[in-house]
Amino acid sequence: MELPFELDLSKKVAVVTGGAGVLCSTFSEALAEAGASVAILDINLEGAEKVAAKITKAGGTALVIKTNILEKESLEEARKTVREKLGSCDILINGAGGNHPSGTTTKDYLEPADLEGVEEDITTFFDLDAGGIQFVFNLNFLGALLTSQVFSQDMAKKENSTIINVSSMNAFTPLTRIPAYSGAKAAVSNFTQWLAVHLSKVGVRVNALAPGFFETEQNQALLRDEDGDYSARAKKILGQTPMDRFGEAEELLGTLFWLVSPKASGFVTGTVIPIDGGFSAYSGV
Ligand code: NAD
Repeated sequence: MELPFELDLSKKVAVVTGGAGVLCSTFSEALAEAGASVAILDINLEGAEKVAAKITKAGGTALVIKTNILEKESLEEARKTVREKLGSCDILINGAGGNHPSGTTTKDYLEPADLEGVEEDITTFFDLDAGGIQFVFNLNFLGALLTSQVFSQDMAKKENSTIINVSSMNAFTPLTRIPAYSGAKAAVSNFTQWLAVHLSKVGVRVNALAPGFFETEQNQALLRDEDGDYSARAKKILGQTPMDRFGEAEELLGTLFWLVSPKASGFVTGTVIPIDGGFSAYSGV
């Protein structure tokens, strides 16, 4: 992997939740390549092991811990294992997150015909399921809060430790169809500011990445038609992205490295940084 710039993270311990996923596997590999010992915490053990194997093969240090970020006990157990095997956490990446279909409407707008029930197989705002909405809030917001609560107990006692949350474009302005995910990511951004202030006296910096749109395996169904062309929604996203393309996971690494480096960003805390090809700056006109 080509790193954005040289950064020496040897003797640092990084904990990455969601490290088996598309973006956070890239973060884990990059942090390991810069010398950090990386603990991959994910509910998907098999996926995490594949990432760890790649890191180990490249000469890095990785530890896999099957963890559910929604269970405090599971997080406490992970913290104990990290401390025993690697040492206490310096860098925490709260990457686990995502959406759920039952917190998602089928269409962008509620239209008069929808009130008549003309189309039967659609989910309107009225059909959204409380359980689905709760799931999305828990995974994105509560998960980041609980993980920070557990690991920052060690981080507050160390110098130069830092937490990076993963927010999203929809935290600034909600995207159509995904009220739960948008609200949950807005909560992540808000929490980033709150925690940055709360931990400022004990030297823990807290910031967030706000990725724009990245074409990944998971969102293929949303971004590609069956014939492989961009879907209507993908074209709409590109039309709103001045740089006229989707991002690559590696393009998040420069901001990640900047934020984890006290030399580079030692006075930066409480920020949410868009990495979005200009999406959040563009009004569409
Ligand atoms: P992904 O689905 O590939 O990865 C998410 C990972 O989280 C998975 O490995 C999954 O197993 C893990 N996970 C889910 N529930 C968990 C739990 N309860 N405990 C522990 N681990 C759990 O997602 P991604 O696209 O790599 O996204 C990573 C982060 O970036 C997420 O927070 C996502 O919301 C955010 N994000 C992604 C994009 C994008 O375009 N992909 C854009 C903006 C923000």
